[in-house]
Amino acid sequence: MNSNDNNYTKMIDKYVTGKILVTRSSMPSFEEYCDEIRDIWDTRWLTNMGPKHKKLQEELKSYLGVEKIDLLTNGHMALELTMQALGLTGEVITTPFTFASTTHAIVRNGLTPVFCDIDPEDFTIDVTGIESLITDKTSAIVPVHVYGNICNIEEIQRIADKYGLKVIYDAAHTFGETYKGRGVGSFGDASCFSFHATKGYNTIEGGAVCFKDRAFGDKIYDLKNFGIHGPEKVESVGANAKMNEFSAAMGICNLRHVDEEIAKRGSVVGRYHERLDGLDGIRLNRYSPDVKPNYAYLPVVIDADVFGCDRDDVYSVLAEHNIFARKYFYPLTNTFECFEGRFDPNDTPEALKVSKAVLTLPLYADLTVAEVDRICDIIISCKK
Ligand SMILES: *Cc1c(COP(=O)(O)O)cnc(C)c1O
Repeated sequence: MNSNDNNYTKMIDKYVTGKILVTRSSMPSFEEYCDEIRDIWDTRWLTNMGPKHKKLQEELKSYLGVEKIDLLTNGHMALELTMQALGLTGEVITTPFTFASTTHAIVRNGLTPVFCDIDPEDFTIDVTGIESLITDKTSAIVPVHVYGNICNIEEIQRIADKYGLKVIYDAAHTFGETYKGRGVGSFGDASCFSFHATKGYNTIEGGAVCFKDRAFGDKIYDLKNFGIHGPEKVESVGANAKMNEFSAAMGICNLRHVDEEIAKRGSVVGRYHERLDGLDGIRLNRYSPDVKPNYAYLPVVIDADVFGCDRDDVYSVLAEHNIFARKYFYPLTNTFECFEGRFDPNDTPEALKVSKAVLTLPLYADLTVAEVDRICDIIISCKK
């Protein structure tokens, strides 16, 4: 392709088809949202566990197949307050192949993250590495269900039971999934979801924690509402992490369409598989047959030695065509500047390798076959 052609392609991308970003937030129609929020103008009940909050909480409990759930401002506060409510101390075993939030929630609770490597096949915690990291200071395991792949739940629970550890799942990527027919949020002591705009299901900003123990639920409620029990009664030192009514209304609307959105994402993922499966040097994520997938992400791992160019090259070529994939998760959380000198990423060599080779491709319900084909054509053209 000569440079004129290239400029032309760029112009077409920019003015005709526009940019393709890694994700595009799901939204109901404007009218549907207006209908849902209309009564907020009558009641003036904007936040503090109003009718929308209550309604969404009930609907999600049933949709996710969990016993108990509480809604929060975002997924991060769900994680951070869950760790606080469980009274964790000392060390927490987790992985660095995650979003900043998981590690930050641990550190912000005054706990020490101890990093276990990942299984490079499904990117979740390598359960064979957990037991050797347990010390007399360990209080919990915080595994992440990465890209919708679900951790080895049975083995994690076996280890937790053997050593008396709590298990908190970062379930931010697994909205609506089931594992062996059970809602993914029903495992461990608690599972935390994110309903951020960029996630498969959103409440603009939002999150939830799913759990079974009533006493834990009381603590979470206190932590998300200042520990206030009445106009003149403050029982504990809580924070503020309540989901507001406008977010809950968005959640109610989006929940009506989420199955359809997931089905559409599934077709997009199917098209990527048709185009890229069997291309030497590229590996697409595969869900285990035990999982009912939500198609939240489409990560591909690029083996530069076989493919002929590396992840960063493919990322740049796509970007030249106004297609913005994401290096997700890169960098590893144990390499962040804010932790300089505290951790050694060589302790988690598989995670380090994957973080340099993985690219998350654009994926959302309304991504067209033509757009997927264009993305795949560009990726295929990168192969040397
Ligand atoms: C999005 C995300 C979070 C944080 O959720 P927010 O709602 O953005 O606070 C935590 N963990 C993982 C793995 C995530 O992807």
